[in-house]
Amino acid sequence: MFDNILGNEEAKQVLENSVNTEKISHSYMFIGQEGIGKFMIAKEFAKAILCNGREKPCNICESCIKFNGSNNPNVEIINEVEEKSIKTEKIKEMVKSVYEKPIGASKKIYIINDSQKMTKEAQNSLLKTLEEPPEYAVIILIVNNDNLLLNTIKSRCTKIKFNKLTKKEVEIVLKQQYGHKDISDNILEISDGSITHALAVYGKEEIFSEIGNIFTNLDKINIIDLLNKKDLVFKDKESIYEILDYINIIFFNKIKTNIKYTYCIRIVEETKDRLTKNSNYDMTIDNLLLKIWEEING
Ligand SMILES: [Zn+2]
Repeated sequence: MFDNILGNEEAKQVLENSVNTEKISHSYMFIGQEGIGKFMIAKEFAKAILCNGREKPCNICESCIKFNGSNNPNVEIINEVEEKSIKTEKIKEMVKSVYEKPIGASKKIYIINDSQKMTKEAQNSLLKTLEEPPEYAVIILIVNNDNLLLNTIKSRCTKIKFNKLTKKEVEIVLKQQYGHKDISDNILEISDGSITHALAVYGKEEIFSEIGNIFTNLDKINIIDLLNKKDLVFKDKESIYEILDYINIIFFNKIKTNIKYTYCIRIVEETKDRLTKNSNYDMTIDNLLLKIWEEING
């Protein structure tokens, strides 16, 4: 069923079995870090549930064809890539549509990507539908950090865990689907099992190996030199979250040499939080560098 999607064999098997035995839950939560195929698998799963062919998804029945053309009326996808949050109005609109019966099918499917972006109010407006869904409804919540979801939401869903991809799997996807060549082990290391990370890092190996040098040797660098490296390392604002994640991978590996790296990890996480809240970029980065330098050398 998921022939063209690599990794997560166990999760795929569970979903395939539920289609084959027609035991579909009303609500699922797909949990795992970004860039490992949750959204792709959710769409394929939805297509298979709605498929009228023998081998599901057959890609030739009317439902599959409509699905592939993004105009199957029995599936609705909320994918607010550009937005910082998923607002109540969006969920209320969706809830209204849940109570309209499917057209020429026995199921109607809703996928909410990055559902951790739902505001508390938005989550609350979904709750009642999750508690008492119409019998044809299937709601799939995709989430990379389920700590941001209300327990009342989590407890209503069948949870499916997704794992990081292996280095080999990341390499194959980069080569086959994105045509990238010469994939260094360094990239695969930094990607930490995520295609999203791998794509962000690809072509920027130099910056990332410089970051590796600096933050592995934080106890050997003086603060002036560290601040002077700022422009080189942090100029690429678009990759800032990948950069910060990579710094934390380095710190995580250093904890056994010095417990202070635990605090550094927290400082990096706080920095990510500040950047999401639109703080002044340069000040936030200066602050980060000063704090972690002091933590290690102070
Ligand atoms: Zn089909």
